[in-house]
This record gives sequence, structure tokens and C-alpha cells, in this order.
Amino acid sequence: MRERHIVVIGGGITGLSAAFELKRKAEAVNMPVRCTVIEKDSRFGGKIQTKRRDGFVLERGPDSMLARKPAGVNLIRDLGIESETVGTNPHANKTYILHEGQLEPMPKGHQMGIPVDFTSFLQTRLLTQADKLRVVLEPFIPRGSADGDESLGQLLRRRFGDALVNRLLEPLMAGIYAGSIDHLSVRTTFPQYQKLEQQYRSLVLGLRAQRRAMAAMQAPGAERVGPASGRSVFITLRDGLQTLVERLYDTLVNWADLRVSTDVTGVTRRTDGTYTVTVHSEGQVEHLPADAVICTTPAGPAAQLLSDLVPAAARLSEIPYVSTATIVLAYPEEKVQVDLDASGFLVPRGEQRAITASTWVSSKWPNAAPKGHVAIRCYVGRAGQEEGLKLDDADLVDVVRQELKSILGLDAKPEFTVVSRWNNAMPQYTVHHLDRMAEVEAAIARQAPGLYIAGAGYYAIGIPDCIKHGQEAAARALAHVTD
Ligand code: FAD
Repeated sequence: MRERHIVVIGGGITGLSAAFELKRKAEAVNMPVRCTVIEKDSRFGGKIQTKRRDGFVLERGPDSMLARKPAGVNLIRDLGIESETVGTNPHANKTYILHEGQLEPMPKGHQMGIPVDFTSFLQTRLLTQADKLRVVLEPFIPRGSADGDESLGQLLRRRFGDALVNRLLEPLMAGIYAGSIDHLSVRTTFPQYQKLEQQYRSLVLGLRAQRRAMAAMQAPGAERVGPASGRSVFITLRDGLQTLVERLYDTLVNWADLRVSTDVTGVTRRTDGTYTVTVHSEGQVEHLPADAVICTTPAGPAAQLLSDLVPAAARLSEIPYVSTATIVLAYPEEKVQVDLDASGFLVPRGEQRAITASTWVSSKWPNAAPKGHVAIRCYVGRAGQEEGLKLDDADLVDVVRQELKSILGLDAKPEFTVVSRWNNAMPQYTVHHLDRMAEVEAAIARQAPGLYIAGAGYYAIGIPDCIKHGQEAAARALAHVTD
């Protein structure tokens, strides 16, 4: 059999996972496959970037992955770095919400902010008596229409009223996307809540029923389910998530052609159904022949690269992206006269702050700061609140420090700061996103068999989801070249 060549465009976690899967599957059946991974930046990893400095392990982008999603945990195991897995500190399992300038503990007994047990919700200062009454009436609210899509906000406001949504549900749920709850598609982001509403009418009753079923599964004698590393909901790696990228690189480097600082500028289809991928590097242009192509860039670049080949791919440019920034502030412990007794705090839009959320990284993670030091990370920028990002780094740090002073009373001068800009980094799956994706994917399958798109821009942004999406694209590409 002739050797097949598969080109992967983009060397973030999706692209590297796709290449790793190609290697694993091709080697398993002794199939002659060659792979080239092309990355525009000078490094692999995309959004995953760890800064290691003087014993600190500081994430510029993602800081963890969900342990219950198997693709991440399995990749860690396959790369032989399971022993480096770190869970969150158990004593930092509390989170605060900023409310009228004060930090209030998040009520207990909820799933993503949706109350399962009302006891703690009835005591919280986040809601007035009238707001609480509205929340406890949720089981009596009729279900919405079963058809189609709506915004996450539409569903949650219908069920719980505006106060719970604005003060708790939006910062928690839309915060994952740096998005707006009133624009994100419920079918794409939290389809389980749409299904629960249809099945049980009430999300509260539906979640309670699920909890009972889970408890029964975990009863003595039943099979135990849960993350491979302890019981932590989130996991990272001892030297940061970048270890994942480094181990993928080490595993791939003798098998694949891994190129950085190389920009893919075109993909064309030849009359025999194979592809030509045009790349630019240091002023040189090269045309790479390929039997299949996996494009894992964000949606905007993918639209540019693919729309001559598949006109409907231009619709990928309709997926909005939001910019954000993370600012890490590191301090000597003795200068921080604040009890950082939680994983951090969330800031609802109504508070009108530049900071949208803050993670007390040295409280949340045992590996983040060396003994005698603490580190706090703040997020700035989300959908509709991106003005703060116009500031230069020094001013951005100043604003964040002023807000930490007013919220926490923290006035100390940090020993260093790390500002990371994430321009157009967070895809927004807006209402009817899945209809648009179905149209684009169908057109690609029809007009460009052997071409695949994968990555955070399309169905889910979490690292395990990206790994899974990259692996699925690899499996489809291999099936195509063996047909
Ligand atoms: P990317 O990482 O964007 O990789 C795509 C790559 O394509 C890039 O490296 C880019 O340079 C390259 N590229 C683009 N155009 C071209 C071209 N023409 N030619 C060649 N290469 C090209 N997820 C979690 O699970 N947990 C978290 O805690 C978390 N926190 C986050 C915090 C922040 C601040 C951000 C920004 C994201 C966070 N995420 C988190 C989301 C997660 O990090 C991303 O969804 C995921 O890393 C995206 O991976 P990807 O490979 O799909 O895309």
C-alpha cells in the first residue's frame, strides 16, 4: 500500500491529539501513514501555556481539565504521566461571589448554580426574599417548547427568574465561555438542561432525580465511578498543563514532521481527490501534497482557508470570538494579610468591575506557588465587557490591583505579575450554532471528502472535548485514506 500523508493544520491540543491518534492507530495496524503538523506560532500548544518561574507553576491560559471527561484522563495515562496528575486542594472547595461589593459564599447544594437543595439558597444574601420565592417556585413553572434552540438565559430566566441568573448562573455558566448567557445556545452549551426540562418539567426535580440515581449507583456493592486521580473534579499536572503538550511533542517528534512558525495559507483539492496544502515559512512557499487534511485552527482562520474549496465554510466566520486576558499576581505570603480560604471569586456583570473572576491559584492548587508565596489570577474581559482590554499591561495590572484592594483589602505590591492577552480566543456558540455547523459539515463532506475540521471553535471548548474532537477527526481521516 502506498504511504498516505495526512496534514494537520494547527498545533494546539486538538491538532496534537489528532496527530497522536493517527500515530497510535496507524502503528497498531502497521499502516504506512506520514503526518505533518503545521503551527503558525513559534511554539506548539495554542491556548495551553504554562509559565514556570522560581518554583511557581502559573497558567497563562487554561488551568485545569474536568476529570470526569475521559478523553483528558486517558490521554494523560497514554502519555505515561498519570503520576504527575494533581487535584485541587480539598480545603479550597469554596467559591465566593461578589455581591454589592462584598464577597458572599456561593450557596451549597447546587449543580452549576442550579439549586438541588434549597436549604442553603434560602439563607444566602445574594438573593432577596422575593428572589428566593421565585427560585423555589421553579418546580411549578411549565416547561418550554421542545423544539429547536434558545439562549441559555432564556431557559434559565424562565425557570428561576432574573436574580438567580444574573447573580449566580451567568457568572458560573457563561463564565466558562467568557460569554453572555443571553446569547449562548443552550443546545450547544448545556443541552442536558434542555433535556431535563422536557423530561421532568423542573430542573430542580430533574437534578434531584439524577442525584438519587447516582447515589444508588455508588451504593455499597455498586461499581464505583469517578476520576482516576482521587475525587477532585478538576485536575492539572504537577508542572502545569504544558506538560501535556511537551509529552505529545516528545512522542510525535520521531514520527511526524512537526513544524512551527509556519503559516498555512491555502488548501486546494486536486482532480484525483487529494489535496495541496500551501505553507509559508520564513519567506519560503511550499506546496505539500496530502491525502487528507485536518484543520484545527480557530473558526475564523478555518473560514479563510477553506471557503474557496467549500463556500459554506465561510459561515464559520460568523462564529463570534471574545477577547480576554489573565493577570497573575505573585506575592510573598507574609505581605498578604487576607485569608485566601477559597478557590477564588466570580464577579456578576451588574457589579461593573474590570475583573470578571479571580482564582486564588496557590489556595486552589498545591503545585502553583513555592512555600512562602501566594499567587492570585484575575480574568478581565468577556462578551460585551471588553473595554478593560484596551489598557496597556501596566494599566491593566493597576486596575486589577485597585479592584483587589477594594474587594479583598489587598494592598501589597506583587513581587511579579504575568499578563497574558487572549485576543479573539473564546468562541461563542450562539443560538442556532448547531444548525450552522450542520450546514458547514454537510457541505465539507459533499465537496471535500477527506477534509475535516476540529477544535474549540465548533462544539465544546474544554480541553478533554478538544482532545476527543481531534481524535475523532483523526479516525475519520484514517478511514478516508484507507478506503
Ligand atoms: P488552539 O489552542 O487555539 O490551537 C489552534 C492553533 O492553530 C493555534 O496554535 C494557532 O496558532 C494555530 N493556527 C491558526 N491559524 C493557523 C494557520 N493558518 N496555520 C497554522 N496554524 C494556525 N479549557 C479547559 O478545559 N479548562 C480551563 O481551565 C480553561 N481555561 C481557559 C482559560 C483561557 C484564558 C482560555 C483562552 C481558554 C481556556 N480553556 C479552558 C479553553 C481551552 O484552553 C481551549 O478551548 C483549547 O486549548 C483550544 O485548543 P485548540 O487546539 O482547539 O485551539
